[in-house]
Amino acid sequence: MRREIQRAEKLQVLGELAASLAHEIRNPMTVVRGFLQLLLEGRLDKEKEALFLRMSIEELDRSEKIITNYLSFARPKTEEEQISFDVGERIAHVTGIISSFALLRSVEIRQHTELGLFVEADPSKLSQVLVNLFKNGIEAMPTGGTLTIQAGRENRHVIIDVRDTGIGMTKEETAQLGSAFYTTKESGTGLGFMVSYQLIQAMNGTIEVTSEKDIGTRFKISLPAADEEMRGEPA
Ligand code: ADP
Ligand code: MG
Repeated sequence: MRREIQRAEKLQVLGELAASLAHEIRNPMTVVRGFLQLLLEGRLDKEKEALFLRMSIEELDRSEKIITNYLSFARPKTEEEQISFDVGERIAHVTGIISSFALLRSVEIRQHTELGLFVEADPSKLSQVLVNLFKNGIEAMPTGGTLTIQAGRENRHVIIDVRDTGIGMTKEETAQLGSAFYTTKESGTGLGFMVSYQLIQAMNGTIEVTSEKDIGTRFKISLPAADEEMRGEPA
């Protein structure tokens, strides 16, 4: 009996994951398509061309990794990378990936990150979360605005703050955030935030949301700092 229930639950989760897989692959596809479009127009200098090609390859590699991750959930044989890495570097990387998307929508990205913010997790999973949050922020500013990304320390935690000056959400809308398939967008899937929330939870972290209609939204991610970071500090 218990086995049956577990099986049913797993099948349901697998169904949801299949849908979110499609969503996660669509993000990199959008980015790579944007780059190819720019290349086709042929107005880029050699240096920019090389940069965009490199970023496209990275995005394709990331998609491949996402698929592998989901498959490893379906067939439990995980090859998760669990390493200590610099959050600021990750943010810079993802900001680079999303920059053409922001430019197209007249969104300015501002970034202030402290040095040496280390967490222990799978870096590609944090990238996935950041892409989702940055993309949501940019999509919330249809007439342009500012996406501000800050990272620093609070006690033994690394804090990542993502703010937009977009359409914001009412209390009711904020409450719906995180339910699977909740979307207010024409071609949205309502899975990006749910997946992000689950990934952060799996890293023993938290995400807080504060939003005000027509003013903007703030997401605050808190992750346990890696031990390494504590070395320089008095016990
Ligand atoms: P999708 O982006 O596909 O709609 P998400 O799970 O990423 O799915 O987001 C769900 C919904 O939450 C969005 O459709 C939007 O209504 C709301 N939302 C998420 N982030 C923001 C934001 N930064 N500003 C305003 N609304 C947001
Ligand atoms: Mg989204």
